[in-house]
Amino acid sequence: MKYDVIIVGGGIVGLSTAWHLVHQVQGLRVLIVEKERDIALHQTGHNSGVIHSGIYYKPGSLRARNCKTGYDLLLDFCERKGVDYDICGKVIVAVDEEEVERLEKVYERGVANGLEGIRMISGAEVREIEPHIEARAGIWVPQTGIVHFPDVARKMLEDVQSYGGRIRYGARVTGVTTDGQTVTVKTTDGTFTAGRLINCAGLYADKIAGMTGDKQRMRIVPFRGEYYRLKPEKTHLIRNLVYPTPNPAFPFLGVHFTRMIKGGIEAGPNAVLAFAREGYTKTAIHLPELAETLAFPGFRRLAKKHWRFGLNEMKRSFSKRRFYESLRRMLPELEMSDIVYYRAGVRAMALDDNGEVVDDFIVSVRDNIINVWNAPSPAATASLAIGRHIVEQTGMVAV
Ligand SMILES: Cc1cc2nc3c(=O)[nH]c(=O)nc-3n(C[C@H](O)[C@H](O)[C@H](O)COP(=O)(O)OP(=O)(O)OC[C@H]3O[C@@H](n4cnc5c(N)ncnc54)[C@H](O)[C@@H]3O)c2cc1C
Repeated sequence: MKYDVIIVGGGIVGLSTAWHLVHQVQGLRVLIVEKERDIALHQTGHNSGVIHSGIYYKPGSLRARNCKTGYDLLLDFCERKGVDYDICGKVIVAVDEEEVERLEKVYERGVANGLEGIRMISGAEVREIEPHIEARAGIWVPQTGIVHFPDVARKMLEDVQSYGGRIRYGARVTGVTTDGQTVTVKTTDGTFTAGRLINCAGLYADKIAGMTGDKQRMRIVPFRGEYYRLKPEKTHLIRNLVYPTPNPAFPFLGVHFTRMIKGGIEAGPNAVLAFAREGYTKTAIHLPELAETLAFPGFRRLAKKHWRFGLNEMKRSFSKRRFYESLRRMLPELEMSDIVYYRAGVRAMALDDNGEVVDDFIVSVRDNIINVWNAPSPAATASLAIGRHIVEQTGMVAV
């Protein structure tokens, strides 16, 4: 059978794309091919579970716009599908004068992004919100929330299937050919054909894009983010979400405290080079993938520029004390024995040849193939907006 659309990847971006397709085009034959035995087993199932407000992103960027629209769509989806979420708000805190200056810039960005109700607050006001946190100043962001993204993804899949969409598990894509009309997708579980292909393969998005002949000058480099957990008897130390002031020189938000919707308080994630694209532990090494990363000029340029940051992150990954010290800056009464190592996720970070981190969402369209090259955080929050944007690119729906 020839499908209308094949989507590679059963993460939240692929599922949201399928969700929009089946809702917007009646009777469309959609197939999702997923290499694992379940959905959401990679980035979607290993993230912080935060519904981002969009405060950090460059005003006007796809990331900023999709975060705001995606936020509204996500909350509406959760309401209608009965997915548990909590708009608990968060504080971003500055613990010294230098951070206060940077914090003001974050606040200005939030205002430029149209966030309502955010405000700069004093250290005393931070304490009213989070009684155990010591800070000079903070930003209160009322619209930030928490959710379990795999629950959202599962509801999307249920809907897709109820509209006749299919998913094939254990089907790793190994080759793609197209004659402009029909795309042939070779997988480890058979060969499928369709009128269109949409690549939402996350950590392997560049590989699939390469198979389609779309050679943009960027590569995915995997960065692991490790999380500790507060011991159950210490969870009272954090009420909701506490973030440090981000350093604009780096594309990460810094290790933060997050209340999880299913219970518990997590602290993380850091950002260390993973030695395998799906390398969730320090010892997970995939030699060909590692060799490819190390040989990539973009990675070498990034490493040269940020070697000190990289080294410090690596040390913090191996030293619980260092991890603990970064948390204690915000929470002085924390003791090292209060945190235990918990889990890790791996981010798909797109780098260009010059070693610049590709900041924005990147979707490229060529003939009947769409490649989602870059869907970094907040792509889980923004997934319903990104999926809609992708579907608009297919030309199958009136925009
Ligand atoms: C540590 C961490 C914390 C984060 N925190 C947040 C947060 O709090 N809030 C937020 O909004 N975002 C967050 N993000 C970002 C967010 O999780 C991701 O941007 C989002 O999940 C990306 O979804 P995806 O569908 O593109 O990728 P994925 O979820 O990785 O899905 C890609 C799918 O493609 C499949 N696949 C890959 N190759 C093939 C192949 N060859 N054949 C078939 N299938 C294939 C994979 O198995 C996988 O299921 C975080 C990410 C990480 C890693």
